[in-house]
Amino acid sequence: MLDYTKHFATRLARLVTPQSEPIPGTGQVPNSAGGYAWPVSEWDRLDRFLVLGSEGGTFYVRERRLTIENARVVEALVREQGEALVQRVVELSVSGRAATNDPALFALAMAASLGDEATRKAALAALPEVARTGTHLFHWLQFVTGFRGWGRGVRRAVADWYVEKPDRKLAYQVLKYPSRDGWAHRDALRLAHPKPTSQTQDVIFRLATRGWKGLEAIPEGIDPEVRDLLEGVRALGGLDPEEAATRIAELRLVREMVPSPLLRHPEVWEALLEEMPMGAMIRNLATMTRVGLVAPGSDATARVVERLGNEGRLQKARIHPIAVLAALKTYASGRGVRGRGSWEPVAPVVDALDGAFYGTFQNAPTTGKRVMLALDVSASMTAGVHGMDYLSCREASAAMALVTAATEPRHMFTAFTAAFGGFGPSGLSTLSFSPRERLDDVLRRTDRLNFGWTDCALPMLEATRRRWPVDVFVVYTDNETWAGDIHPSQALRQYREKTGIPARLVVVGMASNGFTIADPLDGGMLDVVGFDTATPRLIAEFVH
Ligand code: CA
Repeated sequence: MLDYTKHFATRLARLVTPQSEPIPGTGQVPNSAGGYAWPVSEWDRLDRFLVLGSEGGTFYVRERRLTIENARVVEALVREQGEALVQRVVELSVSGRAATNDPALFALAMAASLGDEATRKAALAALPEVARTGTHLFHWLQFVTGFRGWGRGVRRAVADWYVEKPDRKLAYQVLKYPSRDGWAHRDALRLAHPKPTSQTQDVIFRLATRGWKGLEAIPEGIDPEVRDLLEGVRALGGLDPEEAATRIAELRLVREMVPSPLLRHPEVWEALLEEMPMGAMIRNLATMTRVGLVAPGSDATARVVERLGNEGRLQKARIHPIAVLAALKTYASGRGVRGRGSWEPVAPVVDALDGAFYGTFQNAPTTGKRVMLALDVSASMTAGVHGMDYLSCREASAAMALVTAATEPRHMFTAFTAAFGGFGPSGLSTLSFSPRERLDDVLRRTDRLNFGWTDCALPMLEATRRRWPVDVFVVYTDNETWAGDIHPSQALRQYREKTGIPARLVVVGMASNGFTIADPLDGGMLDVVGFDTATPRLIAEFVH
């Protein structure tokens, strides 16, 4: 018999719609690959943008169009729900959930310009929370001046950024990031023109606007700690490495304050390591290995390994898993990306980086549910994660899935792709990935998997066919599904009917596009964002 209800029915579990057509009556829209999916809500799209940005575009959409699309969503939220938008931006930025703070700074700049009065006020008041370093401030200035001039509000917010910082912190910012990306403290201070509230501030402002030339003699009366700091940094260039190391340790100086000739000496790095911020430590592992400080069995190695194992410290420093992953890939390879020399990777450091990756995510409880981790490894997922040409979306998916695998003992790892036009392997394969393996090895194996067309229904279809019990399907994808004969949401409903398991679907979006395979009206389907440090926790809370 022809089952007429397969094509026309009001019960969604009965309908079978090819992905090249919308499911009737559900508001689906065309995605960029020729398939149909749901539009994500504005707030979910905002999260995708804040966490992933839009740099480099996607496999299908160029950077320019993707950025405009995302900016339009931000603009709409700024105009309709501006204060809530500012709150969301602050929340995501402060918790360090995103790999880069730039989308948050961009959204905050839009809110400070295009919002109503209350929104603009909230955005400007939030500036020091979101722009936490000199570099952040410079990026925000670049963004905000794309939407408005230096009105009174911007001048006052920037002035406050400076005058409300404790003296030592301010001096540190000015010495560490004098300028970046076309902006300098000099520009910001000349435009905002803050009135110094103390003699110490006056000295720091003079240094920022006129350089050391503006500070022939450092006045006696200023904060002695700041005075020592300034004098110490100024004198550093004339010292030999050993003296410099002593000074660096005493004054807790950072690498940016040290003239480059001194950075060839291990004793200088040893002194820097003493108080080195976590992010800088992770970025400089190769250099410290090359100069011979981080070596097999050395004290510095033990210190590095101990710090990388300190979860509280990783989270307090807002170390993002992407930064750890990038460091791991580079460090373990023993060769700089831009031909910056080579080094002999020290094994315990590599292992410590591997462990640190897991430590950078927000803690997720174990639910004990049967979890299928399903990686979309189709062609479009070989594109880089936004702004990261060294990490493909499918590698990033594997890394994210490992984090959930580490807390969920009843998981299975799978990868799926449809064949190219019916040729080559098609379907879903189980993978023997384990969180006990080194991440960079798993990524290499992911990178070598076959790829083809995209059919995001495959995890549910194969689980139905093979009678696998699954409580939650976690699908890592860019949502550009199109090649299947049935929509993923329909395949999930069929799975539920056939097995009696009220299975759920979590869609981990790996691109900041506007589509999702999750039916927004089905409470058993959830959208989360790839490479959000909260994602493993959000998955656990959803399936609990
Ligand atoms: Ca694809």
